[in-house]
Amino acid sequence: MEQNGGAMNEHDTTPVLPGQPLLRNQDRPGHREPHAHATEQPFHYPLEREFIEPDWTRLPGYRDVTKEQWESAQWQRAHTIKNLKELKAAFGPHLTDELATDLQRDMLERATMSMLVPPQMINTMDERDLYRDPVRRYMAPALTDRQVEWPSHPYATRDSLHEADMWAVEGLTHRYPTKVLAEILPTCPQYCGHCTRMDLVGNSTPTVAKYKFELKQPDRLEMMLDYLRRTPSVRDVVVSGGDVANMPAKRLEEFVSGLMDIPNIQDIRLATKALMGLPQHFLQTEVLESMERLGGKARERGVSIAVHTHVNHANQLTPLVAKATNYFFEFGFRDVRNQGVLLRGVNTTPKDLLNLSFTLLDRCRILPYYFYMCDMIPNSEHWRTAVWEAQALQHALMGYLPGFATPRIVCDVPFVGKRWVHMVEEYDREKGISFWTKNYRTGIEYDDPEALRRRYPYYDPIYTLPESGQGWWREHTRELLPAS
Ligand code: SF4
Repeated sequence: MEQNGGAMNEHDTTPVLPGQPLLRNQDRPGHREPHAHATEQPFHYPLEREFIEPDWTRLPGYRDVTKEQWESAQWQRAHTIKNLKELKAAFGPHLTDELATDLQRDMLERATMSMLVPPQMINTMDERDLYRDPVRRYMAPALTDRQVEWPSHPYATRDSLHEADMWAVEGLTHRYPTKVLAEILPTCPQYCGHCTRMDLVGNSTPTVAKYKFELKQPDRLEMMLDYLRRTPSVRDVVVSGGDVANMPAKRLEEFVSGLMDIPNIQDIRLATKALMGLPQHFLQTEVLESMERLGGKARERGVSIAVHTHVNHANQLTPLVAKATNYFFEFGFRDVRNQGVLLRGVNTTPKDLLNLSFTLLDRCRILPYYFYMCDMIPNSEHWRTAVWEAQALQHALMGYLPGFATPRIVCDVPFVGKRWVHMVEEYDREKGISFWTKNYRTGIEYDDPEALRRRYPYYDPIYTLPESGQGWWREHTRELLPAS
C-alpha cells in the first residue's frame, strides 16, 4: 500500500500525512494490512567493508614478514615505527617527499606526542592516499593538517581536564563522587596525536617537555590502594595510563587483584587502546592466563571487570582485534566498550561514526559506548568540533543502533566532567562559548559553596564561528588571557 514513497489509507488513494494514523477498512475493523518495508536510508546497512586482516605484504617494509612474525607481540613492538626514517621504510615510495617534509615539520613545530605506531596500525592505513587517510591523520599528523591562524584555542592548556589538579595521590584522579581514574603508568604501545594526557604521557617532543611522575611506581600503586581502602564512597576504578598493555601482565594483575580485595570496589575497567593497536599483546599466553585469573577472581568476588578501548575509525578493526576481544568474554569480563574521540578529518561524519559503531558491534562484539569531543589541548583545533556539530552528529546516530549500543557524544567540560552534548545550559553561538553546570563536587571543591551554582565555559574552535565571532576573538584574546 505505498505509492510515491508514502503510505496510503486502505482502499483509498488519499496519502496519509506524516503523523496521522492510517484510516482502517470499516468492513474489517480488526484487520491490519502490513505495509512497512525496508527502504533507502541516509545510512546504508549492512556494512560494505570486507572484514579481513589487510595483507601487510603489500607494503614495501613488510613484504617478507611471515604470519608468525606478524602475530607476535614481540615482533610488533620491536618494529613499532618511532621516526620518519622507519615510516619511510614501511611505506617506501607511498610516503611522498612532500608528506615526509610535512610530517617532519609538524614533529619539530607542533606535535605534542612523539611518533609511535605499531605495524598493526600502519597496516590499517591506505598507502594509496596517505594524505587523506583517517588513521594517518591522527596517528601521524602533518603540519598542513593543522589550523594556521588558530592552531590552539586561546584557552587551550596542557592537562586541559585538570586531572593532575584532582590527584588524591600522585596519578589517582578523584573527580567524580564514586569513581576514580588510576594513571598507573605514563606510556603506551602507541602514541596518538590528539592524546588528552599529552602533559604526562609519552616522550617529550621539541615543543612539549612532559611531566614525570615523582614517586616510584610500586609506591604510587600502593598509595592508590591505600586511598581506596580509606575511601568507601568510591566504588569504581578506571585503571588507565597511558595504556595498561605497557605494564607487565603480572604487575597489572597484582594491582587489579588488590583492587578486588577492597570491599567497596565494585567496578573495574581496564583502559587499553592496544586492544586495537596491538591486539597481539592480548594474545600472548602469559597475558591470557593473567586475564583469565582476573576474570575468575572478579566472578568469585562479585566484581564487574570490563575493558575500555579507544578506536576512532572502522578501518582499524580487524579479525585479530575481534579474536583478542573474544577472550575477555570467555574469561567472564562483563563487557568490552569503546570510547572513541571525535576528530575532524577522521570520523566526524554520520557515515564514519555509524560504520565504526556497527563494525565494533557486529564484527568485534565491542560496545560503542562514548565519543568524546576532542579536548582543548594545544594544537588540537583542526581536530576539534563545535558543540553544535557534535549535537548534529548525535542526532544523526539516533535510531540506527540498538539503544544500549548507541554511543553518547560527550563534552568533557573542564572542572565539570562528561556532559552529554545536548545538556548545554546556555550557548553563545557567535563567540562559540557554551556554559555547563554540574550536580556534584569534584575532589577539590569540598569547601567551595559555589561549585554547584557556577556555570562552566567550554569553547568552540574559533575558525568554526561566524566572521563576527572570529573578529571578537581577534580583538579580545590578548585582554582575556593572564599576562605571561
Ligand atoms: S593510547 Fe590513550 S593514553 Fe596513549 S597516547 Fe593514545 S590517547 Fe593517549
